[in-house]
Amino acid sequence: MNFIFLGPPGAGKGSLAVKVAEDYKIPHISTGDIFRAAIKNQTELGKKVKGIIDAGGLVSDDITCALVKERLEQDDVKNGFILDGFPRTIPQAEAFTGICKDVTVVNFVIKDEIVIKRLSTRRVCRKCGENYNVLTMPPKKEGICDKCGGELYQRDDDKQEAILHRMDVYREQTEPLIDFYRKRGELSDIDGATQTDELLRDFKKKFPNK
Ligand code: ADP
Ligand code: ZN
Repeated sequence: MNFIFLGPPGAGKGSLAVKVAEDYKIPHISTGDIFRAAIKNQTELGKKVKGIIDAGGLVSDDITCALVKERLEQDDVKNGFILDGFPRTIPQAEAFTGICKDVTVVNFVIKDEIVIKRLSTRRVCRKCGENYNVLTMPPKKEGICDKCGGELYQRDDDKQEAILHRMDVYREQTEPLIDFYRKRGELSDIDGATQTDELLRDFKKKFPNK
């Protein structure tokens, strides 16, 4: 099955996507992760997008669509995939309809207050990318990744000013996709405030793995 995870930043898309990918044995494709890897490795792409991403803006549709198109040409997506963080604009959604015809869009519904709180308390492992939360999912040892011992840090775009900007960008550019997909009959809502493990159970009931 092909999934798009749609929702505001901090809705829990990435956390659920990791679990679903494991369970359904399909790849988790996060455009944000791809961009962050490019920044870390200081590739041409990374240099181009660093400033935009740190400030909480959106990378151009051209760059993003080309990247996703290329990724979806790889063999491992044959049995399905989860797109997390793409599409984020109407032009991206339109481009995607030309790439893939069969998709289920999972819309994460969640209140702004919860999102702001979650993002400002999120920490990420510099080495392996694992996510933590200082309030709700702290690591065993402060500042250190349970999985790999890497250093935890706060993403620049998880600082207060960038969070508010990302939410504005979401409202203006991404939220219209809800109507776009609802009209196409491809949208299904889930509750982003639910804890990931419980959410996975709901998800599996709603979208049984075929
Ligand atoms: P979030 O936690 O906000 O969901 P992501 O990890 O998905 O963040 O993305 C981080 C940043 O990467 C975004 O704020 C944006 O700058 C860039 N980005 C990711 N996906 C896209 C996309 N589809 N179009 C444009 N920019 C993107
Ligand atoms: Zn780690």
